[in-house]
Amino acid sequence: MINATMDLLINRFNIKKKTIDIFLNSLDDIKDSFNKLDNIREYNQLKVLDAFQTHRVSDTHFTNSTGYGYDDLGRDTFDKVYASVFKTEAALVRPHFVNGTHAISTALFGCLKPGDTLMSITGLPYDTLHNVIGLGKMIHGSLKHYGIEFECVDLKSDRKVDIEKALSLLKADSSIKVIHLQRSPGYSWREAFSVEYIGNLIEKIKEVSPETIVFVDNCYGEFVDIIEPTEVGADIMAGSLIKNIGGGISPAGGYIVGRKDLVDNASYNLTVPGIGGECGATFGLMRQFYQGFFLAPHVTVEALKTSILCARMMEKVGAEVLPSSTATRNDIIQAIKFDSKEKVIAFCKGIQKGSPVDSFVECEPWPMPGYDDEVIMAAGAFIQGASVELSADAPIRKPYIAYMQGGLTFDSAKIGLIRALNNILELNE
Ligand SMILES: *Cc1c(COP(=O)(O)O)cnc(C)c1O
Repeated sequence: MINATMDLLINRFNIKKKTIDIFLNSLDDIKDSFNKLDNIREYNQLKVLDAFQTHRVSDTHFTNSTGYGYDDLGRDTFDKVYASVFKTEAALVRPHFVNGTHAISTALFGCLKPGDTLMSITGLPYDTLHNVIGLGKMIHGSLKHYGIEFECVDLKSDRKVDIEKALSLLKADSSIKVIHLQRSPGYSWREAFSVEYIGNLIEKIKEVSPETIVFVDNCYGEFVDIIEPTEVGADIMAGSLIKNIGGGISPAGGYIVGRKDLVDNASYNLTVPGIGGECGATFGLMRQFYQGFFLAPHVTVEALKTSILCARMMEKVGAEVLPSSTATRNDIIQAIKFDSKEKVIAFCKGIQKGSPVDSFVECEPWPMPGYDDEVIMAAGAFIQGASVELSADAPIRKPYIAYMQGGLTFDSAKIGLIRALNNILELNE
């Protein structure tokens, strides 16, 4: 760090010398792990570039369709670019998905019929999917409402998949049509699963029951590795465009990739049977979609570096972190377990103070709809709720765990981490 930067931090941002020392030592501790990330980024960038060139992407693809959106060349070519990158038969990438949950729900509805069962083998799926499945209060239009049952195989105590149990259920119950696998942990204390591990699970499932459809929730997992779950046997996969894969540029949207018949079925669920992906105006968003996808391998690695640095800095102040600063990463999430409510709040407030947008806002815990406890959320993002941008959130309950993710540029994310650490150190004074 040059003196000019140090001066700004101390005199303009009121950062303590001690905070900067911990930051610099942390950065020094982890710098070797960055080589591996740079290699992953380099490969994924080439993979994306190759897909752009193969499909002859040109500025005529930055379409501005209206109305029905028939023959939107930009949209249809973008599906092909995605399919090339994910090595799938088909893709459906649309701004019409309101979020990742919508893309996942659309994919699942496309694969299931009344009388079928969906079985999750990575424990209870992400919180927002509970209503989609129909857990708890019955909501019109949930899977359960349409006569689709749900089975859940909890993770074992070592936080791995109980594959023996899953396979025996699969053998015993022919109604199980779809297996749901979630790569990233959501709000739980476990590490994300590697693509290799997911591949091993899929191999075992297909040995027992080749026709069972394997769905993977790939949220936060894109471009963290050089292979994706669709390359190790996943039949269909979905995710959000305001996470890794939108590169911080896509203003909204989601994607589904996979086997053509399954993606087609999902498309009939996104729009209507018989029309599917052939309609849907893109309102001039295609350039942003292409540009975001092009930047995504880079932005994902900026976020990964931020997570590793966060882990190391928090380890140094005695917090328990998952993954650890030396672990191999399979998503961009960093979980930090604090020993007090004050620390978790100080951490989130610091992240907010480091943001380019809404840095002046004091975020506070509040009773968010759908959650039992109060939740504090730090997000100063260009795109509302975009968690590929530096953000952190924590339910205010024991154990006090904050989930931190994102960072469009490592240099700006560093400031968020420095401010978070500074806030925590100030508590002890
Ligand atoms: C973010 C996320 C989702 C979808 O969330 P949205 O807020 O609807 O985009 C689903 N599953 C996991 C594991 C996620 O991290």
